[in-house]
Amino acid sequence: MTNLAQTPLSDRLRSLVDTVQHNERTLRRFQNVELRLIGAQDFASFLDILFNHLPQEFSLASVTLWLDDRAPMLLELLEPIALRALDHPRLKASREGGLAAQGLCVEGRPWLGRPTELDDGAGRAFFAAAQMPTSAILLPLAAGDTVSGYLCLGSDDPSRFGDGMATDILERFASIVTASLDNVAHRERLKQLGMTDSLTGLANRRYFDERLREELMRAARYGVPVSCLLIDIDSFKRINDSYGHRSGDRALAAVAACVRQQVRLGDTVARYGGEEFAALLQGDRADALIVAERVRLAVERLDLQDGHGERIALTVSIGVAARIAGGAPADAVSLGRAMMEEADRAMYQAKHNGRNRVEALVKAGSDEAAR
Ligand code: GH3
Ligand code: MG
Ligand code: MG
Repeated sequence: MTNLAQTPLSDRLRSLVDTVQHNERTLRRFQNVELRLIGAQDFASFLDILFNHLPQEFSLASVTLWLDDRAPMLLELLEPIALRALDHPRLKASREGGLAAQGLCVEGRPWLGRPTELDDGAGRAFFAAAQMPTSAILLPLAAGDTVSGYLCLGSDDPSRFGDGMATDILERFASIVTASLDNVAHRERLKQLGMTDSLTGLANRRYFDERLREELMRAARYGVPVSCLLIDIDSFKRINDSYGHRSGDRALAAVAACVRQQVRLGDTVARYGGEEFAALLQGDRADALIVAERVRLAVERLDLQDGHGERIALTVSIGVAARIAGGAPADAVSLGRAMMEEADRAMYQAKHNGRNRVEALVKAGSDEAAR
């Protein structure tokens, strides 16, 4: 009889349950870090999460990030902090580091092992000589075939990262880091270009119009649908009058965040006017109507209070419009204008029909109107 067979069943079950519970806890802790990364508003907080929160949460000796400054988005990110980046011990951008990482991560797979066994160049590229961890994992940050950087996690436990270890959770984490990095680079670009609204942190109308044109040109090329929502806060003048302008401002920021949460990471949400927001979505009218209803409900359920703890009830009226763009991409500007006007009329219809509603002007063949 083997040892395993002699172990009472209850012990084996307990050990199995322990393993499952341990894995679940690990996954939850990763999800916690991932949510923070996705929500990062700027590069500084993104780096803070990676360099301070991550090592604390997972008892890592070091976290290093190497970014490829040839990626256009990242170049914009790195440029303003280039001088600081040079002496930032954990943020790297040297060509040497990139080549070393590329050599280690065969076919885009993570590398695991002991950094002390690496040759000098590769070791130096990621670790300060005095703080060489005893084991490490190097994760490519890749979307499709494009590698935008490498994330390196080091541990003082020599057996933490080694051959044969399952890396699926960490690879998934790396893909979230990649998407968040893209998102944060986008945000920084908006700020540099003066295209963000400071009260809500959303893009402004100028940026929205620009994206609308780009998105419709893309849609014309590939024949895919584009849709938009025009979201207007109901009776907002009364909110200001009853709770004061400061609470009104807070309400605007809360609704902005709420709308942002209900759409996908790649969709554009902007402050389109005083108490008006616009969302540009990839998808057809049926999709857009679902998102719009989700936004309406989420705003209705917002738990916002004034300075005295009194609940500020908020609702929105939403107009929805969609296009399947065909024809010449050059028509994108007029097509965009027509779609926004339609959403505006639908929004007014929602106001007319009692507010806190979603409306679309469903005319026969309206999606094909622009063909
Ligand atoms: P409706 O349901 O028809 O949309 O009514 P409404 O009161 O929301 O519409 P109206 O256009 O009459 O008023 C919009 C109000 O939004 C008036 C303006 O003072 C307020 N507003 C616009 N921008 C801001 C802002 O940045 N902060 C605050 N606190 N209020 C703003
Ligand atoms: Mg309005
Ligand atoms: Mg309004």
